[in-house]
Amino acid sequence: MKKTVCFLMALVLCMASLCFPAIGEEATTNTNEEQSSVQDQQEEGPSAQETQQEAPLEGEVAEHEQTVSTTGAEPPVRWAYGISLTALQSPYIALVNADHPLEKGDVPDPLVKMTTVKRATSATINLQEVAAQAIEEMFNAALLVKEYTYTKLNKSGTEVEETATFSDGMILYLKSGYRSYGTQSTTYSNYLARNNNVDDGYVAKPGASEHQTGLCADILNSDYAGRDRMTQDFKYTPEAQWMKENCAEFGFILRFPEDKEEETGIKFEPWHFRYVGKEIAGYIQSTGMSFEAFTEEWQQALASFEERGGDIQVQLDYEDSSINAPPTSYILEQLGSDGDAEISLVF
Ligand SMILES: [Zn+2]
Repeated sequence: MKKTVCFLMALVLCMASLCFPAIGEEATTNTNEEQSSVQDQQEEGPSAQETQQEAPLEGEVAEHEQTVSTTGAEPPVRWAYGISLTALQSPYIALVNADHPLEKGDVPDPLVKMTTVKRATSATINLQEVAAQAIEEMFNAALLVKEYTYTKLNKSGTEVEETATFSDGMILYLKSGYRSYGTQSTTYSNYLARNNNVDDGYVAKPGASEHQTGLCADILNSDYAGRDRMTQDFKYTPEAQWMKENCAEFGFILRFPEDKEEETGIKFEPWHFRYVGKEIAGYIQSTGMSFEAFTEEWQQALASFEERGGDIQVQLDYEDSSINAPPTSYILEQLGSDGDAEISLVF
């Protein structure tokens, strides 16, 4: 049965590629390069006559391609990355870490005092306005959650699924937001003093903390809000798992994932969320990459674009003129209303 379906899909694809040569070209590319198709695509670079619209690569990418490649004259050098160049101009995607520290005088402006959401501290919490709004949206969305199935640890230490119910909705608690350079210095030295002078990667050095951007929030549930220390077993709470699953919808990423400690240089923090905007958060979540890897990827894409003679302003103008165009992807029309043109390319 499966073989028959695959055969039929292959047949449809072959017929489509006869009618639309561009589809056939993409079939070859995507079959061989499923894992790193986005990056490889931009490294290949387009041939001189390659001005045709490409088949979408992934879910989010597909949406993007539909909007940017439909009107006007496409620039001679194609922007072949999964995120629009416009989105990459965002001031909210600056990488801050030990290798890319902020200056002592870097203070985001304006900062907004968080007064409408539940907090896990009596201290004032400030965030950049855009992150403050997104936090409110996420906290309010959590309040609508009445039931959530999550993974917990049972008494014998085995992971089991359980459905939690929330009669008043899921309540999140904001623990911290903006932290100044000076505050981070104090936090860092206090932590070292408490930790036998060992820097184990839990607390960033002054300047290396993203909290100084005003775009990060540490978020807990009621159990953990009252504790003195945040611990990684917070990940076994419905709140942590719900946030991890849904944060991108509000423009956040889980900044220090469990399996990316080597790339981020920071230990897993199930409570720390960084605002990067919805489009980029969605991309990072769907690709599963660290923010460090994402930054390297898009910067390479940009360098490659410029090496091939691409003009940033021309591309930005093109994206601006195309942003409101209706989708006219003939590929999607030909290969199914669900928009998943790649389904036939994966066997
Ligand atoms: Zn944090």
